[in-house]
Amino acid sequence: MSDATLTTVGDGPSKGLGQISLLSHDERLQGRPRLCSDCGLCDSTFKPAMQHACMFVENRSADIEQRLHGRRRHHDDELRFGIHQTQFAARLRHPNPKAQWTGIVTALAARLLEQGRVDAVIATGAAPGTRFQALPVLARTPAEVLATAGNKPCLSPNLRLLDDVREQGIRRLAFIGTSCQVHALRSIEPELGLEQLIVIGIPCSDNVTYPDLTYFLSQVSRSPATIAHHEFMQDFRFWMRHDDGHVERVNYVDFPMDKLHGIFPSACLSCFDYPNAHSDLTVGYMGAELGWQWLLARTATGAELVELLGPDLEFGTLTSGGDRTRGMPRFMERLTHPPGAKRPPYPIRKLVAWLQRNKGPRGLEFARAVIEMKLLRNLNHVRSKFPQYEARIVPDYVYEALAPYAEGYQTIFGQPLASLADDA
Ligand SMILES: Cc1cc2nc3c(=O)[nH]c(=O)nc-3n(C[C@H](O)[C@H](O)[C@H](O)COP(=O)(O)OP(=O)(O)OC[C@H]3O[C@@H](n4cnc5c(N)ncnc54)[C@H](O)[C@@H]3O)c2cc1C
Repeated sequence: MSDATLTTVGDGPSKGLGQISLLSHDERLQGRPRLCSDCGLCDSTFKPAMQHACMFVENRSADIEQRLHGRRRHHDDELRFGIHQTQFAARLRHPNPKAQWTGIVTALAARLLEQGRVDAVIATGAAPGTRFQALPVLARTPAEVLATAGNKPCLSPNLRLLDDVREQGIRRLAFIGTSCQVHALRSIEPELGLEQLIVIGIPCSDNVTYPDLTYFLSQVSRSPATIAHHEFMQDFRFWMRHDDGHVERVNYVDFPMDKLHGIFPSACLSCFDYPNAHSDLTVGYMGAELGWQWLLARTATGAELVELLGPDLEFGTLTSGGDRTRGMPRFMERLTHPPGAKRPPYPIRKLVAWLQRNKGPRGLEFARAVIEMKLLRNLNHVRSKFPQYEARIVPDYVYEALAPYAEGYQTIFGQPLASLADDA
């Protein structure tokens, strides 16, 4: 199957380069706040709760963590990864070929339904006739949830299914989703009247609308219509597997940023929860070695979820190498360049790609590096585009996680890193 919609792309990102709205051409989103990730809450009867549930109106991380864990984050990796009881590398012994990685997420959710632990699972399938256009799905059978395997890497209004959950009398629910969805869901959890809510979170950063995903793939691939699977890998390259099985790899540093800088919604550039810290279990890959998945069990429920897969899971070792702090000054300096600046010449890009792959951070240090860079970049995005929101939407752990770079930040950006609210 080729994704027909991938062959029809316009000349640029759907909302125009440098615009700060989500997707101005989409009628359905008219009247939404500028900072909106289309999590779906506002499509449901829970819309009035948006004021206290949306992470882009007010970040409630501290309250949610107090409720889930009874404490604040420790001043260690929890500042970056969120509160967790354990973390490990794992993979399914028999990987699902349709899955994004080995298929732990869908296998777990299917197991919850098989064992009657939940009545339904909210997940993200593909819209008919496409591979990658997200379609929220309320799965009631293991087969329905397994059919959602694989990323549809674009914004998905999964929370709009909360009305169906209520109408169908579902009392025990599992939810698979991204951190903006999970923040809203956790915020209204007491209002949902569920007997049980199990949250399987996936890390998420720099998500895009479907038209912009289509545009992105058309800019980076030689054959966008035949891409069957793609992922941003830990080796600083974007991998695209095509229908004929061959894998196309593009160095991050080779992306044509002058054509891409407008594709990310402002909401995603104002998000501070890359690792999905309010889930019961986060299942990603970026803290693990290539080929393995990275799991963080955050709550007792999350730890039980891992047990559920029992012998189907193989465990690996989490490693950590390199020094992320060495790249941060250069990263900060690059943020001072105008957005979408032209790429450096090819020989320089080749050298940078080699250095990143061979000398850059690896394993957990890679995860720390990318999370810190996104925290810092997004803090600057808020400061430049929405300064009046900073005190409400930037949680304290951002300043705490970035504190080691405070001196360089002051030098490069000419203002303190510390929360502006501290001066008030
Ligand atoms: C936009 C996006 C960005 C991501 N970025 C990172 C990252 O930077 N680092 C990292 O470690 N991991 C990231 N992930 C998660 C990672 O790619 C895998 O989805 C995850 O590790 C699970 O793999 P799996 O094989 O167990 O999943 P599978 O068993 O294949 O299941 C995938 C599940 O993802 C859900 N899903 C698919 N698309 C979406 C969507 N648009 N919104 C919400 N849920 C969706 C589906 O419901 C499905 O159940 C990202 C995922 C998405 C969707």
